[in-house]
Amino acid sequence: MRFIARRYDNRELAEVSLADGRVARVVPAAPSSDSHEVHPWIAPGFVDVQVNGYDGQEFSSLELTPEKVAAIVRRHYAFGVTGICPTLTTQSVEMLSHGMRAIAAACESWPDVGRAVLGIHLEGPYFSTEDGPRGAHPKEHCRRPNWDEFQRLQAAASGRIAILTMSPEFDEAPEFIARVSASGVIVALGHTGASGSQIRAAVDAGARLSTHLGNGSHRVLRRHPNYLWDQMAEDRLMASLIVDGHHLPPEVVKTMVRAKTPARCVLVSDESGLAGLPPGRYTGSGCELEILADGRLVIAGQDQLLAGASAPIGVGVANVMRFAGVDLATAVEMATVNPLQLLGKRGGGLRPGERADLVLFHWKPSDAALEVVATIASGTVVFGDLADAE
Ligand SMILES: [Zn+2]
Repeated sequence: MRFIARRYDNRELAEVSLADGRVARVVPAAPSSDSHEVHPWIAPGFVDVQVNGYDGQEFSSLELTPEKVAAIVRRHYAFGVTGICPTLTTQSVEMLSHGMRAIAAACESWPDVGRAVLGIHLEGPYFSTEDGPRGAHPKEHCRRPNWDEFQRLQAAASGRIAILTMSPEFDEAPEFIARVSASGVIVALGHTGASGSQIRAAVDAGARLSTHLGNGSHRVLRRHPNYLWDQMAEDRLMASLIVDGHHLPPEVVKTMVRAKTPARCVLVSDESGLAGLPPGRYTGSGCELEILADGRLVIAGQDQLLAGASAPIGVGVANVMRFAGVDLATAVEMATVNPLQLLGKRGGGLRPGERADLVLFHWKPSDAALEVVATIASGTVVFGDLADAE
């Protein structure tokens, strides 16, 4: 397979050849007079480490089946996503175990799903019951860290849990974090009201990421010190950010990207299982949720407490350029290279020998979103077509 597209990193036209599922050759292509107008951009496929579900199906659900997992993963090809961490949120151990087993079975049943799923993200249940930081996680299922339970969940997942988001505000948190980190799982901090010393202790114990920094927090917060400054100033923590235009104001995105530096930022969609559905009221995992006309997903009956997101990760890529003033290459890397680096995976480049996980898209600096024209996973076109890139 061979096509011409404009590289996201150096903005030059390139002829890209793929063979045996890998990038075989990338060489400069001679621009014709109008080629910059018609050829799409090419970048590594996006990697989204926080996806809770899609089209009305949560991963954290007793209704989840391997077929539904595969459908959600494949649905994301339309968004340029070739790497995904299905995310299970706070629930009973039975429900979480069921979800883990369904995801593991999907990975084992379909090779493309197994390649796309880079690991499972367990967000919860080790959160404080306090309102505010807890967000939409059901209070009755928030609990203290429990190593035996975590081991049971990891066994149900056949070892696929890659990220655990938890609050470090429990006395036993440092010891628990050290154990989880030593088992090869990335510990992320989130939905927390922790103090500066608790955050420092968590990072000393191995925590490496702040999950959706700036969300899952109190609505009113002491100006300083507080856990936002503590996490922004902690260079050992990367930060995932929901840059959908609803979860963080542009000024906050810009400030956080500058504080963390782009290399330590990871864009996530945090798509809810309700993403993809039209506006209206829905029953979520334990509470009533509402999708407002502007696309915001909130706890029903008010318009402030966000309960997840609905915009795919490409929206974040486009927004972060406008909000934080970073260029296309930097924005793309926040959705490709950086999450892969967090997960300790190779790839995320246009170099010969890399697995051909690629996205082709149209975009202009004034655009609020990327328009995905084709997604290639392991050398196969899994969404769209390459008609614009010939
Ligand atoms: Zn969350």
